[in-house]
Amino acid sequence: IVSRRRTPTFATTAIAAVLMGGGIGAMHYSGMASVEANALLRYDPILVAVSVGVAVALAFLSLSIRFWLSGSQTSKLLSTLVAASVMGFAISGMHYTAMQASMFFPLDNALVQSGMVFPPMLLAMLITLFVGLIAACTMVASFAGQQTELAQSLKEEIARGDKARKDAEAANAAKSQFLATMSHEIRTPINGILGIANLLASTPLNERQERLVENLSRSGQALLGVVNDILDFSKIEAGRFELFEVEFDVREMISDVVDIFSERCASAGLEFVYYIGEDVPSYLRGDPVRLRQVLVNLIGNAIKFTECGEIYLKVIPESSAADHLVLACSVEDTGIGIAAVDHDKVFESFQQLDASMTRLRGGSGLGLAITKQLVELMGGRIWFESETGHGSSFHFTARMGLLASSEGRTRAPSKFPEGFRVLVVDGNAASARVMARYFASWNIQAHIVTTVTDGQTRWVEAIESDSGFSAAIIDLKGLGRPGFELAKQIRTVRNGRAGNLILLVGMDASVADESIAELGALAMLAKPARPSELHDCLAQLAARTEEASGIASGSRRNRARDKRLYFEGRILVAEDNLVNRDVVTGILESMGLQVTTASNGRVTVDIYMQDNFDVVLMDCEMPVIDGLEATKRIRAFETRTGQCANHKQRKRTPIIALTAHALIEVREKCLRAGMDDFLTKPFNDIQLGEALRRWLTPVDRAPEPILQRPESETLLPPTAVLDTSVFSEIRAFQGANGAARLRQIFMRFLGEAPALVKTIHTEHTAGNCDIVVRSAHSLKSSSAALGALQLSARCAAIEQSARDKGLDAIKHHLQPLDTDLTAAIKAARAFMEAANVAA
Ligand code: ADP
Repeated sequence: IVSRRRTPTFATTAIAAVLMGGGIGAMHYSGMASVEANALLRYDPILVAVSVGVAVALAFLSLSIRFWLSGSQTSKLLSTLVAASVMGFAISGMHYTAMQASMFFPLDNALVQSGMVFPPMLLAMLITLFVGLIAACTMVASFAGQQTELAQSLKEEIARGDKARKDAEAANAAKSQFLATMSHEIRTPINGILGIANLLASTPLNERQERLVENLSRSGQALLGVVNDILDFSKIEAGRFELFEVEFDVREMISDVVDIFSERCASAGLEFVYYIGEDVPSYLRGDPVRLRQVLVNLIGNAIKFTECGEIYLKVIPESSAADHLVLACSVEDTGIGIAAVDHDKVFESFQQLDASMTRLRGGSGLGLAITKQLVELMGGRIWFESETGHGSSFHFTARMGLLASSEGRTRAPSKFPEGFRVLVVDGNAASARVMARYFASWNIQAHIVTTVTDGQTRWVEAIESDSGFSAAIIDLKGLGRPGFELAKQIRTVRNGRAGNLILLVGMDASVADESIAELGALAMLAKPARPSELHDCLAQLAARTEEASGIASGSRRNRARDKRLYFEGRILVAEDNLVNRDVVTGILESMGLQVTTASNGRVTVDIYMQDNFDVVLMDCEMPVIDGLEATKRIRAFETRTGQCANHKQRKRTPIIALTAHALIEVREKCLRAGMDDFLTKPFNDIQLGEALRRWLTPVDRAPEPILQRPESETLLPPTAVLDTSVFSEIRAFQGANGAARLRQIFMRFLGEAPALVKTIHTEHTAGNCDIVVRSAHSLKSSSAALGALQLSARCAAIEQSARDKGLDAIKHHLQPLDTDLTAAIKAARAFMEAANVAA
């Protein structure tokens, strides 16, 4: 009764004490009955009662001590000892009291024998046997009781655990659903904010407004980053994260990532270096989006926590089998590092080690937690080495599928002829090392030095020993002015010819520097140079085709990529959110498309039935009927009209889903409903253009050429007499009419600009400040529209000074104004001649 698991109550202890005391009494009195004595045994009833009472009371005390006073392990032992002693007293106390109660009256032998049923010896043995049996039964019963109790409580626990697990699962599902929904709800308005900021940025703004819009856009992007992190995290947590598997060009993907960061690195004064092993195949199968996300995360962190030095990204194959390859990637930095005590926390979610740094640079503390999960989903692992103050290197592996066909597997880098020697002068040792690796694999003998003086010495030595270099590669970005001087020296004609030059320049303004362009370099590559571009330049040189090559456009690749797309056609936009509708309409119209809008699913279907469209952009979540249902109805309508003879057959119109859900099941739902494509909000003009390009053919020219450049641009510091990209843009937009349009613009400028300059001069002399300001203003914008930035800046200065300080303040501008005008006209004419546009 009392040995059950739960603590006995007063009642159970009392019952147990009565049984225990009764047992002791029974043992004593039956023992007495087996005494073979020559006497008659009688008892004093009061003392008998007292003896049983003593046994029960002391048994109660003993049990209480044992079960109630035992708390900790030591007090348990102590209480057991005390309880055992008290139980001993219960037995002996009972015994001696009972002996006190017994009265012996002497008798003769015969009487005793006849008064007993069993002989005393047998009786004693029987009693011993029974006591033993009862003890055994008690133990068995107590053990069995304990087992039943245990089983019972185990069952209860399992049931409780089961319920807890189910509750936790439900809570987890609810949590991720909540996070997914919340991030969706947040993404939609961010979409609006970013879209409007984009549209706003394309309107004329003054400098301050431009900065504000830029900030707005940047904050929006940052917010979107955090929301995306949370969405990813909740998807991974809920086990709903799936990887795609597509074929992709590894180098292209990595170059994209590099492009994102090299500008940021340059402005932070960091060097970005990367190496992709030549034995990494061109094409692999895997999820490029997620691989890119991992790289972006690690490189982003490296830049965030590095104040000076370099970031080095390395991608090489770790191992390969028949159908797959394990990529080993690492991102090393020379930043603040991570203290040993914090190493365990790095991959935990919402962990940021250096709060002050993070406050400074932002972040959610989710990046590495997500990265780790992504890497594991890609069948790899991630680890890092780091020490405070000594930088960090993060490594990860990822399993990628190999293409079945042999094409794309190997990339035989063409070997260069024996004796092809280059001199590399690179201010950054890490980047020099990386180049050395490439050159070694291309069979190029490279002499690598890190200072201008060494470069100079090597170059001169080589010429004098008659074993000149085939080319010199000079890092202008890192070496600056002395590097430029060296480049000039190399281009100086010696022994009948000038040296070949490849320049590594920054992504920033140095590209636009006229003097660099005048060096006549074989190529100008943005640093870090893409290995393929570097290879191609050198290969051209080896093939002696340098005359034809001109300047490689490596440094301009960013600009080429975001060239605007133009289309012709009619688009139906179904979107209930007013802001988003305006944004999408704005972007589409700027691409030359005609837009019709609908605010809910039903209206969309109605409009669709009455008109023809080239593409439908369909928001998935809309009131009345949602985008999925509207799509189903549109598809049903198309089928109906297709079967009906007196209807003109309606072609299947591409429907592009617009949704803020990036989840794969949403994507599938859309496709099942009959949609053809998918665009995740928020998107920008480039992404929308890319999506449209899958369904519409871009046209060459813009229906409305943008001739009036935003006024703010005229305030930019002048970089060149003529920014010819304006001419090129006009030509590109106008297609076949480009030449005519250019000529027209130029003629108008020729007719107007000299007249305005003349007015400025005469009215200055006459003292008409107002007219001077107006003329300067007018010339400022027309020259900017043409790309004559220097002239435009001059006019801006005249306008400002005349307005603020009067005519006296512009005197010193008058002479240079004439010079600028002449230079602009000369440059424009030269350009037109070169471009074969006779003016
Ligand atoms: P967040 O998204 O806030 O950057 P992460 O999970 O990416 O969070 O990183 C967690 C923390 O790990 C950072 O706050 C930073 O303290 C530390 N950390 C990550 N990468 C580096 C690195 N390259 N150098 C130094 N510390 C780092």
